[in-house]
Amino acid sequence: ATGSQKIYEEFLKIAKDTPEVTVDFQPHDDKAHLGVKKTGCQGVCELGPLVRIQKGDKIVQYTKVQLSNCKEIFERSVEGDDVVESLLYEQKGFRYKSPEEIPFISKQTRVVLENCGKFDAESFDEYLAGGGFQAFQKALFEMTPEEVADAVDRSGLRGRGGGGFPAGRKWKQAASQPENERYVVCNGDEGDPGAFMDGSVMEGDPYKLIEGMMIAGYAVGSANGYIYVRAEYPMSVSRLKHAITELEKRHMLGSNILGTDFSFHMHINRGAGAFVCGEGSALTASIEGNRGMPRVKPPRTVEKGLWAKPTVLNNVETYANVPKIVLNGADWYRSIGTEDTPGTKTFSLTGSIQNTGLIEVPMGTTLREIIFDIGGGMKDGGKFKAVQIGGPSGGCLTEQHLDIPLDFESIKKFGAIIGSGGLVVMDEHTCMVEVARFFMSFTQRESCGKCVPCREGTKRMLEILEKIVDGKGEAEDLDRLEELAEMVKSMALCGLGKSAPLPVLSTLRLFRDEYEEHIAEKK
Ligand code: SF4
Repeated sequence: ATGSQKIYEEFLKIAKDTPEVTVDFQPHDDKAHLGVKKTGCQGVCELGPLVRIQKGDKIVQYTKVQLSNCKEIFERSVEGDDVVESLLYEQKGFRYKSPEEIPFISKQTRVVLENCGKFDAESFDEYLAGGGFQAFQKALFEMTPEEVADAVDRSGLRGRGGGGFPAGRKWKQAASQPENERYVVCNGDEGDPGAFMDGSVMEGDPYKLIEGMMIAGYAVGSANGYIYVRAEYPMSVSRLKHAITELEKRHMLGSNILGTDFSFHMHINRGAGAFVCGEGSALTASIEGNRGMPRVKPPRTVEKGLWAKPTVLNNVETYANVPKIVLNGADWYRSIGTEDTPGTKTFSLTGSIQNTGLIEVPMGTTLREIIFDIGGGMKDGGKFKAVQIGGPSGGCLTEQHLDIPLDFESIKKFGAIIGSGGLVVMDEHTCMVEVARFFMSFTQRESCGKCVPCREGTKRMLEILEKIVDGKGEAEDLDRLEELAEMVKSMALCGLGKSAPLPVLSTLRLFRDEYEEHIAEKK
């Protein structure tokens, strides 16, 4: 969106037009050699397009690069004899010595996103050179499947898709089922407005996700893995397909991997744009070719999931944590984050904030650190009012919540959920009734219609919210809204319906005065 592709092409052209340089990655004795490559997203949306120049051990990072800057950057930082670190490149944007000097990056802890922005996402060799597949080989050759599941269990890794169910426990439950045919499924259907964490991992580090799923396959005795990718993520699909083909060519996927009796085949399914297909049972129904609608549970997915077989279903971020856990051990993982929720969490930071983008921080980091340290504070001198966390299934947090540690349990007490990790920051100009109306219109539109409380309840709630926003609300509407919200929350069949009222309930609790003002101003 910021024109990085054109910048890439310009650097490639300049390099090719330079006679004393060869553009490839192979060392040559007589010529300078240069690789010009695309990487996955570095997460610094606000400062793009980014160009990172690595010359020996030295790294220099250019931000907000324009086409007109490319020649000069090349001459001075690539071709020139200058020591890269001594350069000070003046341009409209900023220039930092290294990515670590950008506060947005340096204040983060990157486990899941560690390779994003550094590696060519399509290069198997780069992933391998960076330590890729060491975890898989360790699992395959040095550990039993039970030991792998146990290591993930002891690490305390909890599903990052929203619910926070312990991943290792899920793996053990699937592995203990009497059925031998089992499946490993990845939920890459990230549908929350304002969330793009999983998409960035699939685009920026597809091998890591696949390695995590292969380890899960080995641990639970599954020979098939499915990745269900959101319809709007065509680049994720092409990068994953490319990675799968490369691995198959090298006999790292398929039958008898690396000469062992472990076989694992990967499949990709594209969603068709339905938010509800992010719900586990709707997702597996969609893979099977059926209409994506949730079903009544039990049986749970670990007992009867895909094709009614035991299935481990985790999201992209959860699987992307697994290689490091296997490689470094459960204790290492537990040393990050909180006792209750070890590890890190990726968040997409959007809204009225200086630095929008993708971040990864230890669980337990406070909202204040995320918004004011990493995010650089409010945009255009605005005043912080609230943050919507967890998308349409989440709730609002306000100034009084800025110092609570973000982990699964802590924020539940305040009527919000971490969800998949969308953070939409709002300033004093935001109307919270309008925010509730926006999210309700989203969930109402995405309701699959299978159960009455959600199908009818979200519609009636939306009608009331629209009435209030239009200045036609009445005092009794707030009680009706609250009553309906509680009813839908307790009686809807699946997570979409159960959580749909949360934005309404939290804004009613925290910003009731705004609802009342709208009603008082009745036209
Ligand atoms: Fe469908 Fe909503 Fe019922 Fe879920 S809660 S099954 S989305 S109607």
